[in-house]
Amino acid sequence: MKYRAYTLKTFKKIPQISRLSEEQIFDIEVVGEVLPFKANNYVVDELIDWDNFENDPIFILTFPQKDMLSAKHYDRMAELIKSGASRPEITKAANQIRMDLNPNPAGQVHNVPELNGEKLVGIQHKYNETMLFFPTQGQTCHAYCTFCFRWPQFTGIDELKFAMKQVDLVIAYLRENPQITDLLFTGGDPMVMKSKMFENYIDAILAADIPNLKTILIGTKTLGYWPYRYTSDDDAQQLLDVFQKIADNGLNLSIMAHFNHINEMSTEAVAQAVKNIRATGAVIRTQSPLMKHLNDDADMWARMWRKQVDMGMIPYYMFIARETGAQEYFAITLEEAWNIFRKAYSQVSGVCRTVRGPSMSANPGKVQVAGITEINGEKVFVLNFIQGRNNEWVGQPFFAKYDAKALWLDDLKPAFADKFMYEE
Ligand SMILES: *Cc1c(COP(=O)(O)O)cnc(C)c1O
Ligand code: SF4
Repeated sequence: MKYRAYTLKTFKKIPQISRLSEEQIFDIEVVGEVLPFKANNYVVDELIDWDNFENDPIFILTFPQKDMLSAKHYDRMAELIKSGASRPEITKAANQIRMDLNPNPAGQVHNVPELNGEKLVGIQHKYNETMLFFPTQGQTCHAYCTFCFRWPQFTGIDELKFAMKQVDLVIAYLRENPQITDLLFTGGDPMVMKSKMFENYIDAILAADIPNLKTILIGTKTLGYWPYRYTSDDDAQQLLDVFQKIADNGLNLSIMAHFNHINEMSTEAVAQAVKNIRATGAVIRTQSPLMKHLNDDADMWARMWRKQVDMGMIPYYMFIARETGAQEYFAITLEEAWNIFRKAYSQVSGVCRTVRGPSMSANPGKVQVAGITEINGEKVFVLNFIQGRNNEWVGQPFFAKYDAKALWLDDLKPAFADKFMYEE
């Protein structure tokens, strides 16, 4: 299958777009100026059900929707476009609106480490054992999710980009930090890069023979957006061979696959891709945020986890949506998130209960909403660090005052204490 991308400039060439009204097409043009937009022929032809596109989760996942912008922001952009405003005017307004949408949540820009006084802009080191690497060639995706919290990277605001070329610095940093066992390639989507490029990175890392490095993780949406990456792409076999090489060198390879909806697992191509990856010895773990309009349905999650296990994958994380971009459109309260999680979790068997969540990737760490309960007559949230900036926080339940409207950790107030333990 030949990859064909559709962008804001070209999406009207998609044959199925003729099913949309003029107004719906205009909405895509308006919202697409602000939020990232890119689809491709696989998503359009094989995943979206065009007979019911208005409610189709993959359509909502990839095509901008009117309500993803506030009325104020929508009207401003719509008027500019209608009045025939110039490209620079539209770009300027889009950037201003983006700045109102909290483009860098959870202090992402503050996690840049240093080595010998030099800032390593393509690296993040937040958790003791895990280092994140943003290879330059992996800062895009085969399609864009409308909820993406990394959207500033796709919009050309350069100072918000993290990227680096020097694998040498990655290796040096791993050596200087022997507590790091896991190296996570992330993006964007690192599996967008050519196999040759990825092989160069891996060869350098394997040749360095870093004793503390045990596991390579790759965060990717390719199984959902372009499974041909592992089947019929020109360099698919080369990529699988690199995976095999990682295993042959005694390292674990864990593919962290983003699946947001069970419909993404319905095609022959994805089933074959999963088989091909597993045959290399790699393990596939799955993760997704919980999003209103997209996947706020416990039964769907239960079926999705079940299907993942049946295909040979390991359900791993359910995340709570970050406070960025179209967050109001997608937002689910912490209470609803917990209810959806446990309703789904309670209907699957033990092999699916490897999944953890619902979890907020917040500034101090990954915080799980473990439950809502009453202690001494006070209704509280029970919270738990799955990952923390400080390992001593991990696994210690802590409490916040119950708040029916709370969407994120920042909305919560400590219960039975003046401060949360991580604030001390
Ligand atoms: C935390 C995280 C990982 C790695 O998960 P571990 O808990 O360290 O195993 C991978 N991808 C994303 C998006 C994460 O947030
Ligand atoms: S695949 Fe990941 S990085 Fe790419 S648009 Fe979707 S959420 Fe963002």
